[in-house]
Amino acid sequence: MDQNCDIPTDSGKGIRMAENSEKMEKPKHFIQLKIDKDLETKKYDQVYTRFPPEPNGYLHIGHAKSICLNFGLKSQYNGKTNLRFDDTNPETEKQEYIDSIKEDVKWLGFEWDQECYSSSYFQKLYDIAISMIERGMAYVCHMTPEQTKEYRGTLTEPGKNSPFRDRSVEENLVEFEKMKNGEYNEGVCVLRAKIDMAAPNMNMRDPIMYRVKKTAHPKTGTEWCIYPMYDYTHGLSDSFEGITHSLCTLEFADHRPLYDWYLKAAEVSHFPEQTEFSRLNLDHTVMSKRRLIQLVEEGHVDSWDDPRMLTISGMRRRGFTPKSIRNFCDRIGITKKDNIISMSTLEHAIREDLDEIAERRMAVTNPLKVTITNFPEDEEVDVSAPKHPKKDLGERNFKFTKELYIEHDDFMMDPPKKFFRLGPGRMVRLRNAYVIQCDEVIQDENGKPIELKCSYIKETFGGVTPEGMKKVKGIIHWVSAKYAKPIEVRIYDRLFAHPNPVAAEDGFLSTLNPESKQLMRTAFIEQGVDGVKPGDCYQFERLGFFTADPDTTPEKAVFNRTVTLKDTWAKVSSRN
Ligand code: ATP
Ligand code: MG
Repeated sequence: MDQNCDIPTDSGKGIRMAENSEKMEKPKHFIQLKIDKDLETKKYDQVYTRFPPEPNGYLHIGHAKSICLNFGLKSQYNGKTNLRFDDTNPETEKQEYIDSIKEDVKWLGFEWDQECYSSSYFQKLYDIAISMIERGMAYVCHMTPEQTKEYRGTLTEPGKNSPFRDRSVEENLVEFEKMKNGEYNEGVCVLRAKIDMAAPNMNMRDPIMYRVKKTAHPKTGTEWCIYPMYDYTHGLSDSFEGITHSLCTLEFADHRPLYDWYLKAAEVSHFPEQTEFSRLNLDHTVMSKRRLIQLVEEGHVDSWDDPRMLTISGMRRRGFTPKSIRNFCDRIGITKKDNIISMSTLEHAIREDLDEIAERRMAVTNPLKVTITNFPEDEEVDVSAPKHPKKDLGERNFKFTKELYIEHDDFMMDPPKKFFRLGPGRMVRLRNAYVIQCDEVIQDENGKPIELKCSYIKETFGGVTPEGMKKVKGIIHWVSAKYAKPIEVRIYDRLFAHPNPVAAEDGFLSTLNPESKQLMRTAFIEQGVDGVKPGDCYQFERLGFFTADPDTTPEKAVFNRTVTLKDTWAKVSSRN
C-alpha cells in the first residue's frame, strides 16, 4: 500500500517539507479515504470512533497519536467518539489511572460523547459466551497452561485439539458455571472459542475467552471472578457502542480475523470494522507503559509527571502546550509504515508554539557577580525592552544598577579567539544596555572566578556604537543584583542519551542520560516578574523556553526548561 507520507526523521528537512505541505492542504490519509468510501457507499451513516486505553498506567505521547486520530475524525466528519476504558485486567488497573486518563484527554482539547467501561458489559459478554457454548462454539478446557502452550503448535506446525474440545454442551455449561462461581482456582481451566487448531494464524487456534482471576476489580469489585480476554471483549464492546471505525495499531492486524469471528459468533446486529495504523515510535525515549512504570517505581525519575517523561502529564508539567502536541501528531501523519520519528520533530513543535506566545525576559541561571566600577553607587538607569519581538505586547521596564549578575558560562578566564563573550580585558554588550569591559577578575582559592570588576561605556546605551569605536560582537544577558528576583530553574534534557534505548546491549536503563536534570537553585529573573503561577511561560533570552512548575510558591518561582532555543542535539549527532 502506498501510504508512505511519513516525514523523514531528519528533523530540519522534514519540518520544512511538512510546513509546505500544510500550506498546500494536506492530502487525506488512508483512513480518511476509507471513511469517505464507507460514507459514500452507505456502509455507515455516521463516523463513530473510540479511544480505548487500558487504565494500567498514565497516557504517553504514543497515546496522543491515537487520541488525535480518533477525536480528529469526530470533528472532521461531524461524528462521535467514545472514551472507553478497556478494563479487563483487574490486577494492573487503578482508579488513579482512570482519573489521569480523563484529565489528559480533556487537557489535549477533546471531548468524548460517552465515557464507557468494558466492565459494564461483563453481564452481556457472559450471556453471549453462554449462547456460544450452547451453539457448540466454545468449551471449557482443563489443560494446564504448559499443556495449552504445547498443544498450540508453532508458526510452522499446526496445533493439536485439546482433549476437552468435544465436551458436551451440558458439561460445558456446568463447568463454566463453576468457573463463574469461584469453584476453580486461577489457572485450572479456561473458556476457549472452538475455531481451528490448524489455522495458519495462531490467534485463531482456539483462543481463550475467559480466565479465572480472584482479584477485586476497580469497578465491579468482587462481583466477578472470571474475566473476558481483550480479543473477545474489544470487538463486542465496539459493536455494543455502535462504533464504526475501530482504529488500532499494526500489531493487531493478525487479530482482525478473530475480531470478525467473534462478531459473527455473537450474531451482533452492528458490525464495526477494525483498521490498523503504525504506532508512534520516537528516538531517545521508551514508550511502553511497562517500561515507564519501571522508571517510576525504581526511582530513575521522580514521578509519572516528571518533566523528562513523555507521559502527557510529564509533558504538561514540562511546559508542552496541547496545541503543540496536536500539531506534532498532525505532522507525523497516519500511515501503515513503521518508522522512528526524531525527538527534534517534537521539540520543534513546542518551540514553534512557544515562540509565538511566550513573553521574553532575562534570567541568569548560574550567576557570576559583576561590579561596574565606574558606575555611580546610587545611580539607576531605566531600561526597557519589548515583551515580544513580533507581537505588540508592549514594553517591560527594569533598572540597570552598579551590581549585576551574568551567566558563569558567559565568562572564560582564557577564552579562545572565537569566544565572543567576556574574558579578561575583553568587551561585551549587555543586552538592552551598555558595552562593558572586564578589567579585573576576583577568584576564590581554587581559581574559580567569583566576581568581575568591569567598566562601562556610557555612550553605548541601547545598542549604540559611538563613532570610532569597533562594534562589539558579543551580546549577553544580565540582571540587576539589586532588583532581580531569586528563582529556581530546573534544566531538563533528554532522559536517554541513546537514540534507541530499548536496543542497547545492557538494557534501556544503561542508557539513561546522567545529565538529564540539573537544578539551578540560585538563579535570578529580571525585575517585574511578579505573581508567577504554575504553567506561566517565558522565553529566557538566549537560554530557551521555561514554564513555571507546580512547585512554584508565592515566595519563589520554580521554572522548568521546556525546550532550548535551538536544536542542541543536532550538533551533537553531526559531531559524532
Ligand atoms: P503500551 O504498549 O504503552 O502499554 P498499549 O497499547 O498497551 O500501550 P492501551 O492503553 O491499550 O496501551 O492503548 C490505548 C490505545 O492507544 C490503543 O488503541 C493503542 O493502539 C494506542 N496506542 C498505544 N501506544 C501507541 C503508540 N505508540 N502509537 C499510537 N497509538 C498507540
Ligand atoms: Mg494494552
